[in-house]
Amino acid sequence: MTHTTLPVHPSRQAFTAARNACKMCTPLGACLAFTGIEGAVPLLHGSQGCSTYIRRYLISHFREPMDIASSNFSEQSAIFGGADNLKTALTNVIRSYSPTCVGVCTTCLSETIGDNVSAIVGEFRKGAGDGGPAIVHASTPSYYGSHFDGYIAAVRAIVEQLAQGGEGEADLVNVIPGMVSPADLRYIRELVEDFGLKCNLLPDYAERLDGSAWAEYQKIPAGGTPMADIRRMGRAAATLEMTTVADFAKTGGGALSARFGVRRIGLGLPIGIDATDALCTALQEVSGRPLPRRHADERGRLVDAYVDGHKYIAEKRVLIFGEEDMVISLAGFAAEIGLKPVLCASGGHSGRFAAEIARVAPDCRTLDDVDFEDIADASGEIDVDVILGNSKGYKLAKSLKRPLVRVGMPIHDRLGAARILHVGYRGTQQLFDRIANAILEHSQDSNEIGYSYL
Ligand code: SF4
Repeated sequence: MTHTTLPVHPSRQAFTAARNACKMCTPLGACLAFTGIEGAVPLLHGSQGCSTYIRRYLISHFREPMDIASSNFSEQSAIFGGADNLKTALTNVIRSYSPTCVGVCTTCLSETIGDNVSAIVGEFRKGAGDGGPAIVHASTPSYYGSHFDGYIAAVRAIVEQLAQGGEGEADLVNVIPGMVSPADLRYIRELVEDFGLKCNLLPDYAERLDGSAWAEYQKIPAGGTPMADIRRMGRAAATLEMTTVADFAKTGGGALSARFGVRRIGLGLPIGIDATDALCTALQEVSGRPLPRRHADERGRLVDAYVDGHKYIAEKRVLIFGEEDMVISLAGFAAEIGLKPVLCASGGHSGRFAAEIARVAPDCRTLDDVDFEDIADASGEIDVDVILGNSKGYKLAKSLKRPLVRVGMPIHDRLGAARILHVGYRGTQQLFDRIANAILEHSQDSNEIGYSYL
């Protein structure tokens, strides 16, 4: 845990286990990344319960079908190793789905017993002969890391195992976007393409996890980054990678830089004007084109909204929790619009969270590697006006009697999580309106008179 000035609450002293974790399990993030490849099927090497939990979580957030295969450990495989189970699972998945790619993620159990998954996959490939789908393995033990670490590990594994070099393509840009919504992915593609660039987005689960209704059942829903595009990643002019906490040496953008010399441009999630300007400046530099008119117009409307709304939100105190990159970008955005971030918390523990928050909101307290009990203890010692985070913080918001503006993931208690737009001038506009209106609604509802003109 990165330390904070907050004392440990007496109720915490007897606990070493997480209670209502402020993160999700590591292979969940990897499964999400593999779902962003066209025709891919994620496969968990471990017990069935892990895939059931991840399916349930992702289905309830995205409200779309989500198949995650499992190598289905038994007591015997837990003791003697799961090589046979994994080979059988690969055979069954390939026969049932005819996938382009199988994304094998490990679980706590298979990591604990020390299965050598790379060797098992190698043996399977030899036995299966030529052809067949790509099989990508990512190591994702959940006792180390969070869903975000799983996502980063899977993207890195995909790039390392599938990307190829070749003649450079000056108008091709790789984008590794972080754990954002399908609406965010659609927006990022639109923005990059409006600069006249080809957008190689990895992963791209925009259609697969927020698609249209089907006339007929599809075993693997349409959408995702085509395998051919992943292979071209080594030829791109640049990689835009949206994370400030991941270690460059462990990311997909880092691998592309080290292996193929593709320039990596590291950015935070583009939430707020400053952060979106940074993204657009990078795109201007790579494309040689100015900010397209419609995006300049959106920026102008956003500045106007800031002017209109500042009197309602200035100096309001905000608590932000969730995945580290999302919290950091939201804190920067909050500071930009005059909100005061007073507590930023995450279940992640990259080791960079406190420093990144200090950069954008120097007076804010930070907590990382914490659960919701820790956050509740800390929030009892401060006053907040509004809360930004996922739906796992609902009980906290209810106990504090403060509005929760739902962002990030998971969101299990509202519809439309896949369509929340967080990023860019357009997403920032929507977030700004939602936050200002949540504050107005709360002050209206908690006022005896209930003014109708605010
Ligand atoms: S056992 Fe580990 S991998 Fe499986 S669901 Fe639990 S935390 Fe995730």
